[in-house]
Amino acid sequence: MRIQVESYEALRDRVAIACRVLAVTGLVEHILGHVSARTGPDTLLIRGRGPAERGLAYTVGEDVQQVDLAGTGTTPSGWKAPSELPIHTEILRSRPEVTAVVHAHPPAVVAASVADLPWLPLVGSYDIPAARLAQDGIPVWPRSALIRRRDLAEEMADHLGDRPVVVLRGHGLVAVGTGDPAHAVAEAVTRALAVDSLARTTLAVAATGAPLHPIPVEDIDELPDLGPAFNVSAIWRHLEARAEHEGPSVPLRP
Ligand SMILES: [Zn+2]
Repeated sequence: MRIQVESYEALRDRVAIACRVLAVTGLVEHILGHVSARTGPDTLLIRGRGPAERGLAYTVGEDVQQVDLAGTGTTPSGWKAPSELPIHTEILRSRPEVTAVVHAHPPAVVAASVADLPWLPLVGSYDIPAARLAQDGIPVWPRSALIRRRDLAEEMADHLGDRPVVVLRGHGLVAVGTGDPAHAVAEAVTRALAVDSLARTTLAVAATGAPLHPIPVEDIDELPDLGPAFNVSAIWRHLEARAEHEGPSVPLRP
């Protein structure tokens, strides 16, 4: 099942709401972090910054503009693509099936990565998407550099490989989505949330001094993939409602 969002403006709203969701769920603080959605083979909508930047929680449609993979486009004066645009463009270049990219600095993910804690399926039914992501492997890019250049983005994308998420040690994470771009934005956000949840659990267990053990394989085998209608669409409706009710009452469009 896919979330049907037809128009360009609606996709722009979707990217803006995703930024608000990242803020309301604590995956981003203040002004750092961005979300993009593919609009064509060589173009993307991306959350940049204008002269009146107020942070991710206050994202409006105007903050999201279309650029090409070189970062150029007809954008309003004063608007700039994020300095880490190469995170998005390099993944869209190397992964044609990817249609959305989320980059965030979740504090728990940063702490767990700096502590070099392993990314294990520590939990089962508590968070099935997190367990499955960990079981299939969450790669870590060991560098904390600001990804402003294409060569750094290529290294990061190599570590991501064909996986849905990569942890950036001492920096944050990148999550991707595929298929219909609106659905992909929601999918990438839910994947980022799953990694954040796993990081918080891992830190909490590690703080007790208990060893970090993955759950048994026979329990992993009893964790079904509940499908995108449950894992993405239903969670997205919840997240969108939270962003609307817990976030600022700033309209997305003037
Ligand atoms: Zn960053």
